Amino acid sequence: MDRLSVISGHLSSSAQPAPATSTTPSSPTRSGRKSALVDPLQFMQLDAMLSAGERSLRQRARRVLEEGRDDKLLNELYERAEFSPALVDLAKQLGPAGLQIKGNGCPGLTQSETLVLAIELGRLDASFATFYLVHSGLAMASINVAGTPEQKARWLPRMARYELIGAFGLTEPDYGSNATGLQTTARKVPGGWVLNGHKRWIGNATFCDIIVVWARDTASNAIKGFVVEKGMKGFKPHKIDNKMSLRIVQNADFVLDECFVPEDNHLSAAKKFSDGTQMVLESSRAVVAASAAGCLLGAYERALQYCMDRTQFNKPLASFQLVQERLMRALGHLQASILTVIRLGRMMDEGQATMAQIALAKAWVTRTAREAVALCREVVGGNGIISDFGTIKPLMDLEAIYTYEGTYDVNMLIAGRLVTGLSAFV
Ligand SMILES: Cc1cc2nc3c(=O)[nH]c(=O)nc-3n(C[C@H](O)[C@H](O)[C@H](O)COP(=O)(O)OP(=O)(O)OC[C@H]3O[C@@H](n4cnc5c(N)ncnc54)[C@H](O)[C@@H]3O)c2cc1C
Repeated sequence: MDRLSVISGHLSSSAQPAPATSTTPSSPTRSGRKSALVDPLQFMQLDAMLSAGERSLRQRARRVLEEGRDDKLLNELYERAEFSPALVDLAKQLGPAGLQIKGNGCPGLTQSETLVLAIELGRLDASFATFYLVHSGLAMASINVAGTPEQKARWLPRMARYELIGAFGLTEPDYGSNATGLQTTARKVPGGWVLNGHKRWIGNATFCDIIVVWARDTASNAIKGFVVEKGMKGFKPHKIDNKMSLRIVQNADFVLDECFVPEDNHLSAAKKFSDGTQMVLESSRAVVAASAAGCLLGAYERALQYCMDRTQFNKPLASFQLVQERLMRALGHLQASILTVIRLGRMMDEGQATMAQIALAKAWVTRTAREAVALCREVVGGNGIISDFGTIKPLMDLEAIYTYEGTYDVNMLIAGRLVTGLSAFV
């Protein structure tokens, strides 16, 4: 089977972003004028840096996501801060979940292929990308590295087919950047473990079927992984309300109150928390950088087309010097971000990337994307703050992306520690 069994066929590299969905009478007149360079990835010939397989994966993912995209639905979900099973259906169109996992029905992508896919996911919508990557990346990869062969066979094939949706529970209310200080406890009892504690920010946790929960063994103090299943007694998720970024992602606080988990749900193949988990988090950090670059790609395409379309003072916005400066600044940031992501993927596939390089790439790309998407929003003027025009949502979403998988500061300090040999934090 094709590793990413998306519908075969090629998308023209000059694929257009979907038009804005607004049909209100006050929508500005659209000229349909095209820019000379429609596909920003052609600017530095970024496709030429990809292998044939990566290129075809990118084109097929683009095609599936363009065919399946429903901007009206995404905007409505964003307004209502809701998730929809339609997004699971769209994810299924991309083929089996599991990214780099080999076997158990998973696609076994390379890190570079994963990053190429994450760019396309982020280009469509950052909430969709986050849902996809929490399930397919963090949750499944944790089971893959910390689970026994029986546990992998029990959960991964069904997760790969989206019959089970996963989440990843590490962060706690009082342990965010300092996540390894976590206080959730796991007490050994006959036949299993009893979990007690409080987790915060856990994506997909309001509706998912299984959550990988990290808890501290009361006997050894070691951090261990457990699979908590929906409906288990003592597990109560509560959606975090009033979140103004990644509003479609359902983040939850949850309490574990004397929650009994059978021994079969203890991910016992990892002897230490760092066994493999570091690899999962490093890979995920790189993927987050790629999805941020994708988020910028989508915002830039929409801003450019808007500035080509809209006329003020009898001229297209795109003809004004200051507008061109902002667009080109965003394009420059976009090229640099994608070059960084592609290079990082290559180094990771060759086993050459250190945590410093991954941390710096995540910090730098998310910061750059955050600044550049603000420029894209700016050139769309007042309409730039309406979700239909596709630049405010990525701007809001990048606030969360800049913060999760290690905040900007923490990633810079990880890189700084490795480069200088001096630790700025404990
Ligand atoms: C939308 C979203 C989704 C998430 N999804 C998940 C998930 O699915 N699973 C999960 O387990 N977690 C998840 N998280 C949690 C996320 O990883 C944490 O929010 C993140 O690690 C930061 O922790 P914190 O929010 O507690 O901030 P804090 O750690 O309180 O940091 C606050 C500020 O202080 C700074 N700071 C902290 N320590 C230092 C230091 N030593 N030196 C300098 N500055 C410092 C930070 O950079 C930040 O600016 C998610 C978070 C968000 C916002």
